[in-house]
Amino acid sequence: MAGELISVEEAQRRALAPVRALGAERVPVAAALGRVLAEEVTAPHDVPPHDNSAMDGYAVRAADGRDGAELRVIGEVAAGQMATRALAAGEAYRIMTGAPIPPGADAVIMQEHCERAGDVVTLRRAVKLRDHIRDRGEDARAGAIVLGPGVTLRAAELGTLASARRAQVAVTRRPTVALLSTGDELRDVDQPLDPGAIADSNSYALAALVREAGGEPRVLPIVRDDKAALAAAISDARRADLIVSTGGVSVGEHDHVKAVLAELGAELTAWRVDMKPGKPVALAVLDGTPYYGLPGNPVSSMVAFTLFVRPAIRAALGCAQPLDLPRARVRLDAPLAVRGERRHFLRARARFADGRLVATPMPRQGSGILSSMLGANALLVVDAGTHQFDAGAEIDALLIGPLE
Ligand code: AMP
Ligand code: MG
Repeated sequence: MAGELISVEEAQRRALAPVRALGAERVPVAAALGRVLAEEVTAPHDVPPHDNSAMDGYAVRAADGRDGAELRVIGEVAAGQMATRALAAGEAYRIMTGAPIPPGADAVIMQEHCERAGDVVTLRRAVKLRDHIRDRGEDARAGAIVLGPGVTLRAAELGTLASARRAQVAVTRRPTVALLSTGDELRDVDQPLDPGAIADSNSYALAALVREAGGEPRVLPIVRDDKAALAAAISDARRADLIVSTGGVSVGEHDHVKAVLAELGAELTAWRVDMKPGKPVALAVLDGTPYYGLPGNPVSSMVAFTLFVRPAIRAALGCAQPLDLPRARVRLDAPLAVRGERRHFLRARARFADGRLVATPMPRQGSGILSSMLGANALLVVDAGTHQFDAGAEIDALLIGPLE
């Protein structure tokens, strides 16, 4: 039943239900930052490919490695070189970090624990078998799976792809996300603001959120509060993988989104969610395409996007965990009174202080006050009811941006 008031968690389930992971495309590894892997990657050989030295020092035979032993230095191996011959009893190789261990050697002693005079090195420590040797294959064994589908490619993953000798990699296609701003009052930045008009800020803020989530925004022209115009715009948006509209989902005379969706044969799966800001959220499926009808208020649209559309984009990308924003307990740095019939998502600024996360709620929480989102990196989650939190109280938060 779409009309009942449902929890945010239930709405998230319904928002994700129609989303399918998209197909893959190949991209150069250097251009793959932030993309989601769509294949299994195995190590083509042992990594590292040879036993090598973890220190600058001397490669020796552990059997020779008494404190005070004098060994003859027969050569030097630097990183990228190979020893010219095997080490015999009583001999040492000068060796640098990363250089392959010469045959016959089975330990490295760091240079700080040696004295060198001509071609003789005197050990000033006892040496144990395999001291300071990094084992061949200790990072990855030949054939081992090093990365799998659903992993977001960040710095360490790109480095790992290169160490697996990959120049190209299969990643999921970025979902295209059609963005429709609806409202007779809206004007784009290059249009004059006639009396009664306001700027369309949602198209810009939501396009940025789409990109941050890994999608490709397709911003469509502003749609008037007119059923036929809305139906035409939504039909046109169907070419995208996901459709997001803002405005026109409440119960006003000019709120046509739900009616138009029904006329177009969409299945409406939710339209009232237990949250503030953002109660009217129309979740629907239109010919298999997930549709997210968000409220028009700038803050509501951003909060609802974060809770429902971002996870949908992550799911379309094939992410293992589409609900990827971290939750944490934060300590309030001032008293906070919250009262209401719905669960609040209060914008706040969180920072790390005295060993904990400390949050300052934004002074104004109106859903039309876009400036309350400036610098906001946390949504404080407070359940319905009357709450009087003291300064120092700990509450749940969803982290939506980096800490200051
Ligand atoms: P609605 O959800 O259509 O009732 O709109 C709620 C409020 O958000 C109204 O004050 C609208 O003017 C405002 N609004 C709707 N769409 C946008 C938009 N794209 N950019 C900025 N404000 C908007
Ligand atoms: Mg409107």
